[in-house]
Amino acid sequence: MVVATGAVPNNLNIHVPVGGPSVVQANDVIAGRVAVGQRVVVVGGRYVGMEVADLLAEEGKHVSLIEAVELGWGTILGLKAVLRNRLVEKGVYIYPHSPLMRITKTGVDVANNGAILHLKADTVVLAIGTRPVNHLLEEIKNLVPEAYAIGDCTEIGDAMEAINQGAEIGRLI
Ligand SMILES: Cc1cc2nc3c(=O)[nH]c(=O)nc-3n(C[C@H](O)[C@H](O)[C@H](O)COP(=O)(O)OP(=O)(O)OC[C@H]3O[C@@H](n4cnc5c(N)ncnc54)[C@H](O)[C@@H]3O)c2cc1C
Repeated sequence: MVVATGAVPNNLNIHVPVGGPSVVQANDVIAGRVAVGQRVVVVGGRYVGMEVADLLAEEGKHVSLIEAVELGWGTILGLKAVLRNRLVEKGVYIYPHSPLMRITKTGVDVANNGAILHLKADTVVLAIGTRPVNHLLEEIKNLVPEAYAIGDCTEIGDAMEAINQGAEIGRLI
């Protein structure tokens, strides 16, 4: 049996006041599964955060992108440059080194340069990474003669890595 159950988006353990902005996941936005208001704050500035900010700005929304460290940390430099340029061209407000502090009724508070900055938002879009889902492996490994796990359920990676691991396991079997 090959377990390839992927990953689920990380959530924020943060209080959202009644009447405050809606909080949604970036992958649901990209898949068109949720509604997004006109003023948006995207939390997380790696691939998914930059891509969802780009998409929403393209739709004419007022988009701010906040990232706790630098924009696009750990991403491929060429891709980061392309995405960052697209965000700048589309007027996305980019706040690196600005961790989210709290969600208020009118938006979010972020720490920015030693002060608290308030950004208004109708919708807060989370793009704060994913975590592996692999409990099936533990459950089945004593039930079948051969059990393997591949892709994001072992370690968060990209599609090419998951496909490569699948091909390797296929050859091994
Ligand atoms: C928004 C977003 C954008 C991305 N963009 C890129 C990109 O541009 N390029 C790139 O290379 N990578 C990208 N990635 C990463 C890439 O999607 C993953 O690395 C890749 O899909 C991992 O493949 P996987 O087969 O391990 O898991 P997944 O593609 O996550 O597939 C796992 C599947 O298993 C199903 N599943 C889970 N549990 C069960 C169960 N108990 N029974 C049956 N089915 C189950 C899930 O529903 C899911 O369909 C992106 C990821 C996200 C979230």
